[in-house]
Amino acid sequence: MTRVDVVVIGGGIVGLMTAWHLAREGARVVLLEAGDLGAQASGANAGSLHLQIQYPEFAKYGEDWARAYAPTLRFLEASIAMWQGLGAEVGEDLDVRLGGGIVVARDPDQMRLIEAKARIEASVGIETQILDRDALRAIAPYLSDKAIGGGFCAGEGKANPLRATPAIARAAEAAGATLHADAPVMGLEGRAGAFVVTTPNGSFQADTVVNAAGAKAAKIAAMLGMQIDLGGFPLQVTVTEPIAPLIPHLVYSAAGKLSLKQAANGGCIIGGGWSADVRSHGGLATNPVNFSGNMAMAAGVVPRLAQARTIRSWTAWVNGTPDWRPIIGQAPGIPGFYLALFPWVGFTAGPMTARVIADQVLGHAPAIDLGGISVLAD
Ligand SMILES: Cc1cc2nc3c(=O)[nH]c(=O)nc-3n(C[C@H](O)[C@H](O)[C@H](O)COP(=O)(O)OP(=O)(O)OC[C@H]3O[C@@H](n4cnc5c(N)ncnc54)[C@H](O)[C@@H]3O)c2cc1C
Repeated sequence: MTRVDVVVIGGGIVGLMTAWHLAREGARVVLLEAGDLGAQASGANAGSLHLQIQYPEFAKYGEDWARAYAPTLRFLEASIAMWQGLGAEVGEDLDVRLGGGIVVARDPDQMRLIEAKARIEASVGIETQILDRDALRAIAPYLSDKAIGGGFCAGEGKANPLRATPAIARAAEAAGATLHADAPVMGLEGRAGAFVVTTPNGSFQADTVVNAAGAKAAKIAAMLGMQIDLGGFPLQVTVTEPIAPLIPHLVYSAAGKLSLKQAANGGCIIGGGWSADVRSHGGLATNPVNFSGNMAMAAGVVPRLAQARTIRSWTAWVNGTPDWRPIIGQAPGIPGFYLALFPWVGFTAGPMTARVIADQVLGHAPAIDLGGISVLAD
């Protein structure tokens, strides 16, 4: 049995960055990843850096929900600030660009909701500018003539998941973390100072365990008798062939589910929370009806996209909680067991999630107060 200070379970962006921080600060860290590093949500996401409250959820759950969620925007803001310095830290261009994000409205009811959402965002210091038709046209001439206005949040943007996760894995290894791919955790038992983590290829004893297993994190928590309200949801995303530079923003629609951006190579990445199909053996497949719904939505907002060929769709499980709130911190009643789980927009939140978990494990004051943010800090 190998003895270490910390076992991190899960090799997505959160687990890898946590291992990196801990190793840099002198801890003996082993990371156990069931498959390939960064191959699940962290490598397969759409690369949006989200800051504003997501419009579809605002429309669905309402203002009370949005006010309860709003403190989380400060966490996302701090994480996006970390994204801006991350490329320099790992020594690679991660295609981080903050061009701002626009929710596009097609009717006055949608504008009213965007304005109500902006007031709640402003209450926690996140500025969303309300744009009328002319102001919208001036900054985004590529949008459909049917757009009557929108909300512009300057702090949003994008990063490249295909570059980020491998670069962070290399940084973690260089800092001294031991990363094991193809090492699914089958068993977890014990207590602080003496956890035993079992994989098919060997066991590890650790003072501390960090659960960064993304969509499968509830299964890991259950091994220690803890129930968490988090599940996996199958999503799909599509990319077009590269087109000439057109869309400098992250674009959403108030008419339905859409997130849209143009990557550095010119391809337009189109998603926004459309479900994929679950196949009989548990793998995922693109749902063709949702594919066409998503493409129609994109072309309705940016007409040029009706002329761009799609070249690839892909699928992955996203980690989701019903109220969108993250589960970050030490498990109540299980000292030494930490949960590092940021749902739905965990790519954006990855850097700060990892930072605060590493701070807690190392006994440092956390980089951000989790009160009102993590359900574990209530
Ligand atoms: C299609 C899609 C698009 C998305 N778009 C965006 C976006 O544009 N912007 C954004 O901010 N967020 C987006 N997200 C969400 C975001 O990708 C995730 O919230 C985030 O990547 C979660 O990171 P993570 O490290 O917590 O989990 P993951 O990346 O899922 O990593 C968890 C890892 O744990 C491993 N694991 C699970 N069980 C075990 C076990 N028993 N033993 C060992 N390892 C185990 C898994 O194999 C996995 O690699 C999207 C998600 C999807 C699926």
